[in-house]
Amino acid sequence: MNAPAKDLHARSDWTRGEIADLFALPFPELVFRAATVHRAHFDPTQVQTSTLLSIKTGGCPEDCGYCSQSSKYETGVKASKLMAVESVLAEARAAKEAGASRFCMGAAWRGPKDKDLDQVCAMVEGVKALGMETCVTLGMLTAEQAMRLKQAGLDYYNHNLDTSPEYYRHIVSTRSYQDRLDTLEHVRNAGMAVCCGGIVGMGENAEDRVGLIHALATLPVHPESVPINALVQIEGTPQALATPVDGIDFVRMIAVARITMPKSMVRLSAGRETMSEETQALCFLAGANSIFYGPRLLTTPNPVADTDRTLFAKLGLTPMPLD
Ligand code: SF4
Repeated sequence: MNAPAKDLHARSDWTRGEIADLFALPFPELVFRAATVHRAHFDPTQVQTSTLLSIKTGGCPEDCGYCSQSSKYETGVKASKLMAVESVLAEARAAKEAGASRFCMGAAWRGPKDKDLDQVCAMVEGVKALGMETCVTLGMLTAEQAMRLKQAGLDYYNHNLDTSPEYYRHIVSTRSYQDRLDTLEHVRNAGMAVCCGGIVGMGENAEDRVGLIHALATLPVHPESVPINALVQIEGTPQALATPVDGIDFVRMIAVARITMPKSMVRLSAGRETMSEETQALCFLAGANSIFYGPRLLTTPNPVADTDRTLFAKLGLTPMPLD
């Protein structure tokens, strides 16, 4: 079976039925279709690398059921203040030297206060001056805050949908799905690129995975980056005992994201620490072309850069250069 020509074009009119049909394909057919779409838009040997730094850790008032940084759960993560601009820039320089092309900064807030936003804007300006792409994740944004970040030169704003609209209430109660969509709209209207994906392995069913992909792939413009995370179980959170996602199911998720959002960077995101090299290799084959690089993802471990370099060498992959 060849990839249908319509797979190769970005479209936002996907139906849940079409997406469910993709998930149901025999695995070799699904991966072949995804790889075909991948090759039509990208060099399949190149993987974009991003480094993520937590610029303000813990003490978050939200109750996302998977998160070590929520103040609602006893996870052992200590709340810290917003980092100084110079300290952040020192980390960005080190990330650049280690080969990262994008520097992502995350703050555990419901949304930024205006005085904090001044400091984040200074960080964005400093990282841009190093010649790196910038991304921040600060929680919910107003339209005005999105404009301020755009004016500071921010390239990407990360705000995930997490899961399907139906399953969402089992994961988060302090902000609604619509709140998230509103923030994404503000980011888009301000002219920034969107980084938006979700998490699998939180007890969702197959229909919820269809629902998450459907919510992402029917946004008026597809997110430029789509992080697909495998839940990292954190002791103390409601998701601490969730059953880990099956590796083949995770690859299917990557493949369906690739087919439905053909021009997006599909990021193999949290959960790589416990993922075998073989599963990661299948993800790259199925269209993943972005990873987080560096020893920590906010507060959870991530394969160290040397491990990634070894894996890249084994697979013949190279870091994607900046445009
Ligand atoms: S995921 Fe973000 S918003 Fe949710 S609790 Fe964690 S830091 Fe707060």
